[in-house]
Amino acid sequence: MGGACFLSVVIPMYNEEEVIETTYRRLTSVLGTIGETYELVFVNDGSRDRTAEIMRGICEVDPHVKMVDFSRNFGHQIAVTAGMDYASGRTVVLIDADLQDPPEIIPEMVNRWREGYDVVYGRRIARRGETWFKKLTATMFYRLLRSMTSVSIPVDTGDFRLMDRKVSDTLSSMRERSRYIRGMVSWAGFRQTSVDYVREERFAGETKYPLRKMLRLSADAITSFSTKPLKLAGVLGFLLSAAGFVYLLVVLYQRLFTHSTQPGWSSLIVISLFFHGITLSLLGVMGEYIGRIYEESKGRPLYVVSEAVNFEGAAQESRQAEPAIVRR
Ligand code: UDP
Ligand code: MG
Repeated sequence: MGGACFLSVVIPMYNEEEVIETTYRRLTSVLGTIGETYELVFVNDGSRDRTAEIMRGICEVDPHVKMVDFSRNFGHQIAVTAGMDYASGRTVVLIDADLQDPPEIIPEMVNRWREGYDVVYGRRIARRGETWFKKLTATMFYRLLRSMTSVSIPVDTGDFRLMDRKVSDTLSSMRERSRYIRGMVSWAGFRQTSVDYVREERFAGETKYPLRKMLRLSADAITSFSTKPLKLAGVLGFLLSAAGFVYLLVVLYQRLFTHSTQPGWSSLIVISLFFHGITLSLLGVMGEYIGRIYEESKGRPLYVVSEAVNFEGAAQESRQAEPAIVRR
């Protein structure tokens, strides 16, 4: 290959041995129809199955295929970031390995890019084969996020999108650890448009996004793009002081003008539980932010690469000079 190509497709993979071959074949046949140079940048995010092995085999026979092999699992958003760092294309497409996002949409995305758009994201008009729980929580989450942030992040979009090089470069220059790529693309600006598609069922294997990772991603999204939760303390504190003041008047009235002053045990317990509950949950909110500030302040690389396969030229030589390839 050598040098830059027209289109780079970035595919993060975590334990995807069952889907790789099919994904590779479907992507290759779709990209063939565009009639431009392309590369497939697979990022192996510390899989514990045969993903890396199968990928190496494909890399050997097809120079279009490249692999960035992580030293361990760093998470989906970081894997996508690494793929973008390594991609050389004029345009960069992000797509999941499991074919839930149909590669057949890519030529349409390229057409929109040719019309002058810098970001073409896929909008899911329907989701097939996902549990009602996932759909419901996803719908609620996108609405909640929208109501909290000043950056307008389109609802019902995943990471499936095409970006111009300048957008991809902008994202690569943003080295924060808590990454919510959809939000970062919106933040970056540029001319954006969407193409609609139906999100298919996972083609094989099961989701690599258990509830725990979903919650993490949601927390990253909210804390990266909103400080409203931090301000909750102020608002609640004000409301509670107002309520407390009213209650104070009631107590004073009872003490001065009636003979019914209670021993007051239950009301004290109720107030104490209530205030402690609120104080602790707000401390938790602070903790979420402070933890992230701490993570960022350490300034570690976002990921560690153990091997980069099929990347050519000087760049790779210098990368190979170090035992562990780190990028900041
Ligand atoms: N993935 C990854 N690292 C992880 C989890 C997931 O690279 O720690 C990849 C996974 O291989 C897939 C994509 O991220 O290509 C989306 O994951 P998945 O399809 O399991 O998520 P879902 O579609 O169920 O939300
Ligand atoms: Mg999936």
